Amino acid sequence: MAVDPNAPYDPDNIFARILRGEIPVVKVYEDEYALAFPDIAPQARIHVLIIPRGSYICATDFGERASEAEQAGLSRAIAHVATRLGVTGSGYRVISNTGADAGQEVAHYHLHLLAGEPLGTKLI
Ligand code: IMP
Repeated sequence: MAVDPNAPYDPDNIFARILRGEIPVVKVYEDEYALAFPDIAPQARIHVLIIPRGSYICATDFGERASEAEQAGLSRAIAHVATRLGVTGSGYRVISNTGADAGQEVAHYHLHLLAGEPLGTKLI
């Protein structure tokens, strides 16, 4: 079911559980602001999710409530992940779905990083 951006944050959503270590993931990158791990259903040769540690539902919620440090931290995490994956030269795409029309399924703000092949018009 699509995420309702106006609903309260659900602390039992799957990414919250991953952040609490209840569901194991391969950590591509982590710091005090962000965690990155492979998408379980990759839509490109490289498909990594980057999530803030704070409890934010979507881009609107994150943009309105996250501190400057959290916002800068998530932005920097994109660069760290891309560098760690070795795709800064070849290129990559970052996508965020918010709400029903975008098809957001997990109610914890996340960025999709796609890379590893020519992406054409590929969207999530
Ligand atoms: P959304 O449609 O933008 O909300 O994307 C949610 C993404 O989370 C989808 O690409 C799913 O494949 C991915 N996903 C869901 N559960 C897991 C998981 O347990 N581990 C990694 N990725 C997941």
